[in-house]
Amino acid sequence: SLRMNGIVVVGAGQAGFQLGASLREGGYRGPVTLVGDEPGLPYGRPPLSKAYMLGKTDAAGLALRPEAYYAEHAIAVRAGTRAVAIDRRDRRVGLACGDTLPYDHLVLATGSRNRPLPVPGADLPGVHQLRTLADAEALRTVLAGVAAVAVVGAGFIGLEFAAVCAQKGIAVTVIEGLDRPLSRSVSPGMAALIEASHAAAGVRFLFGAAVAAIEGEGRAAGVVTRDGRTVPADLVLVGIGVLPNQDLAEAAGLPVANGIAVDAMLLTDDPAVSAIGDCAAHPSPHAEGARVRLESVQNAVDGARCVAARLTGRPAAYTAVPWFWSDQGPLKLQIAGLCMPHDRAVRRGAADAGGVSVFCYRGDRLVGVESLNRAGDHMIARRLLQTGLTPEPEAVADPAFDLKAFALRPA
Ligand code: FAD
Repeated sequence: SLRMNGIVVVGAGQAGFQLGASLREGGYRGPVTLVGDEPGLPYGRPPLSKAYMLGKTDAAGLALRPEAYYAEHAIAVRAGTRAVAIDRRDRRVGLACGDTLPYDHLVLATGSRNRPLPVPGADLPGVHQLRTLADAEALRTVLAGVAAVAVVGAGFIGLEFAAVCAQKGIAVTVIEGLDRPLSRSVSPGMAALIEASHAAAGVRFLFGAAVAAIEGEGRAAGVVTRDGRTVPADLVLVGIGVLPNQDLAEAAGLPVANGIAVDAMLLTDDPAVSAIGDCAAHPSPHAEGARVRLESVQNAVDGARCVAARLTGRPAAYTAVPWFWSDQGPLKLQIAGLCMPHDRAVRRGAADAGGVSVFCYRGDRLVGVESLNRAGDHMIARRLLQTGLTPEPEAVADPAFDLKAFALRPA
């Protein structure tokens, strides 16, 4: 088709950046515009709760590419600009500043936002969330003068932040409504290993504790649970998950259901609109075809590559193996595949000797592998899941079993 208006990407984060980069790598020559409501150039979020929070990298170190890259690749970045409406009939996007951008194809890469904590006191000074560089800057600044931290939510970001606090010698309590950390994301066995490691580093946990309020006169002084316990804290980090940014799509009449609904090609109901990254819900062969919404760098990057390939004449379904990592102090957790739900978990290795992996099976099929400080298994697991090879659970549990040779054997 005639490419005159080019490709507009709403959201200049991990997925939006990758879409632009992969379009150019794929030979696309039309205009490419990234619209992002945050200031500055696209950056990676993972270090925000890790190296950046520890002071080991700065804002420049987070940038996905230096400024010159965008000019060299003719990728226009409209930063600090919010897209407020999509006119699908006339194929144009309205911006908050009043401009309109026409498109041949529109890619929604709007990401997700933090789920708010719906309790009294959640808006007090001293209560923080962590999603953006601005959030991280604010947190890192106050963290220097803080004695006690309460983290609400034992998810990835809460645990990563708790590990940073422990490393800095700050007293930290993690408050979680369920009975273990990472209950949505990892097997109970892996959760227990992670909890034990944090506890050994001095992190306190309060499980089965629903937050009733954040108390304090003019600023946060503690977290009160529904069963009447109080955790004193001069800083509260709320990490209770995210919500997909789907409002723009919804207002434009596109189907949404915990994410912007897309097909196996990452296309919405409108053949001129795709959606990728945290905001999109796609059918996955790794979930027996069910729609999943993933929150990971891998999903942002591989989804963008898939759409860019389609837009440059090489259409293919999105089938990449999901993978994820989380660094929590001395712990390097890596997950390949979609482990949840599973009905059998088999352990390989030992926490104190070369790390542990948990191999998760649904029925007789390997669906995912969680590796703690055992990077070799993670790489092998990605290959196994890519090729659909399932090792016998009994073999996996046997330290003498050569997993690598099994994964690499000719079909
Ligand atoms: P985002 O990167 O969130 O980008 C979306 C952008 O779109 C945002 O800038 C948003 O403000 C903007 N936007 C939204 N609506 C509009 C609009 N209407 N107009 C203009 N702009 C708009 N993943 C891992 O795999 N490993 C990790 O260790 C890891 N650590 C993380 C640590 C932190 C602190 C956070 C917050 C996330 C972490 N993640 C990690 C998750 C990973 O960063 C996300 O999955 C990834 O950034 C998703 O990319 P995205 O482009 O879909 O969304």
